[in-house]
Amino acid sequence: MTTDISNNGRAVGGATARSLTASTRFGRFLALEGTNGSGKSTLATQVADLDYARATQVLAEGDPRRGLVWVSRKQPAVTDTDSGIVMARLAEVLWGTVDDPAALPDTFWAATQAAWFTAFSNAVLAPLLEAGFDVLVDGWIGRISTQLLAQGNHSPAELAALFAHVRRPDLTVLVDVDPQVTWARHAQVKPGDLGIHAGADITHARTAFTDYQQRTRSGLCLAAAEQGWPILHVGDGETAEQSAERLAALVAPLTSAASDGGTGLGRAPAAGIELDAAISLLTGLAGGEHYRWPHIDSAFDAAVTGQARRSLSDRDARGVIGEFERAFAGFLGAEYAVSFASGTAAIHAMSRAAGLRPGDEIIAPAYTFAATASPFAFEGVTVRFADADPRTGNVTAESIAAQITARTRAVIVTHLWGIPARMDEIAALAHDRGLWLFEDCSHAHFASWQGRRVGLWGDMAAFSCNQKAITTGEGGVLVTSQPELRDRALLFGHYGKRSTTEIDATKPYSRFAMTGMGLKERITTLGAAIGVQQLARATDIEHRRRATLDRFAHALADNPVLRPIQVDLAEGSHGLYVLGLNYSGEHANFSREEFVARCHRAGATEVDIPGSTGDISGHPLFARSDPFGEWVAPQTAVRHLMPGVSAFAGTFVKLPLWGYPGDGPVVDSYLRVVADVASKACR
Ligand SMILES: *Cc1c(COP(=O)(O)O)cnc(C)c1O
Repeated sequence: MTTDISNNGRAVGGATARSLTASTRFGRFLALEGTNGSGKSTLATQVADLDYARATQVLAEGDPRRGLVWVSRKQPAVTDTDSGIVMARLAEVLWGTVDDPAALPDTFWAATQAAWFTAFSNAVLAPLLEAGFDVLVDGWIGRISTQLLAQGNHSPAELAALFAHVRRPDLTVLVDVDPQVTWARHAQVKPGDLGIHAGADITHARTAFTDYQQRTRSGLCLAAAEQGWPILHVGDGETAEQSAERLAALVAPLTSAASDGGTGLGRAPAAGIELDAAISLLTGLAGGEHYRWPHIDSAFDAAVTGQARRSLSDRDARGVIGEFERAFAGFLGAEYAVSFASGTAAIHAMSRAAGLRPGDEIIAPAYTFAATASPFAFEGVTVRFADADPRTGNVTAESIAAQITARTRAVIVTHLWGIPARMDEIAALAHDRGLWLFEDCSHAHFASWQGRRVGLWGDMAAFSCNQKAITTGEGGVLVTSQPELRDRALLFGHYGKRSTTEIDATKPYSRFAMTGMGLKERITTLGAAIGVQQLARATDIEHRRRATLDRFAHALADNPVLRPIQVDLAEGSHGLYVLGLNYSGEHANFSREEFVARCHRAGATEVDIPGSTGDISGHPLFARSDPFGEWVAPQTAVRHLMPGVSAFAGTFVKLPLWGYPGDGPVVDSYLRVVADVASKACR
């Protein structure tokens, strides 16, 4: 297939029109918005690979190639002479060569803008995008529309109709600068900087300037919040290069370099790094943080402030809560997802939804985080603990079977540190013995077992969304495929309007909709908005975290002492919460504790032997038989010997699975330090 890149076969940049083989990929259109003088053009030139003149020359030579082209918003067309002339005439009106622009009626003004932007879309942008170039424009219709709306002569619907044929960017980034900083950067301010209606009588006073800028800025920030534009806040002390680097990281995922699997714009290739350099980087960062989660960027800010403006409390699921639950269900391929205030609350809901009663028994992992089992204890359900596979720390069908008694009614499995448990065997056991099967997937948002996502194996599953791989700040989700369990989960945590509107009135339990079962365990709207934003970039999170996992696995492949706990690809995939490793002290020159201490001395302070997650079977909570008993620790019950738990707990070490943009140097440094200390550990 061929595409004629010149409009209707007319001349391209003065050269003969030619047909080019169509690019297999349509380019992406990126736009910067911001007040006048916010530095959009400077940033655009720094981030782009080509300018318009060079790109059109490449086009005319019939050699289109990919790259990011900066096109100035005032660029006349060279691909189409007629359009070029029209644009030049319109530009004269728009940009100041007309005698008295203020005398022009507003409707004329808006129509002229719309005509010019439409011509620009067709004659300047279209040929580049169709040839596969990515295009970056420094200022598009965002600011113009904001101003036209502020002037009050047009409704949003009128503007939308006028600008209907103007191209919409794939991504708009708001460059946000404090007007005081803009003023300080410009010794002199042009009349145009004070607005499109600026006449000659405007005094260039600082207050007039900052007032005007502040008004435009507020409008743009509102537009950003409403439309989900990422915001690049440009600080006072920051150099243009630093801002450009951050901008490059924002736009990189959209451009062809990224979709070709390249490293993307502005990201340095990960090179082998010297040990001394790694140590000095990590110790230099010691006061700061090596691992931050989630990645807080302007899209995150916009998601939170946008939601704050919409609603801080939702009583039903018509807004962001429903959006989050649908996104979460879609992310897993689950039938129903019900959100909660925490993972603990979601686990609590499972106990009630399944109808477990005091005196019933549930089998839980001995090695896990306490909240896997504590809500059952709260309900007076007796928890019996199962031993672990010494390599993964997970319970097995065998260790569960060993704890089954006549009173056992349920089993809960944790996919520990992201490693999926052997769910086919466990599900078969639960099915054969008539037990409820629950999953605690708090460590395993991305895991699967035998081609099925974890969370879809049990009757119900809970996911914590506190600082886990998918986060809502605090929050949790219960998933199930059974409508009645879903209804009961709603009654557990979402009484009132949500339950009354969503639960079928013919169900016997629908009469509880107004009160629920006495608790309210709703997620916050801000948490849900964060969850929606995180799920929208789940593929990116997964990709980055898996890449970190692979790099550590590769770097430690030949080390017999420190071995990343992997999932056999033929069986499943890792859940990507943390990178867990087994340290075999008996084959080493020094102990696991000494290994961790050495890493810490070299600055790698995130190398960790976990504290709160471990053998929970000795907690006095689980020895209580009466949920209403005194606040006195009971005699701890006789504990079973758990050889698997001891073996696993005695060798386990963990590291963060970095997954945010800009983490490259820290990951390189950890790789270097950990590999070095681990190699010294080898005999
Ligand atoms: C985090 C976590 C929980 C508890 O979730 P919260 O959201 O903190 O209440 C439960 N189980 C495991 C395995 C966890 O890691």
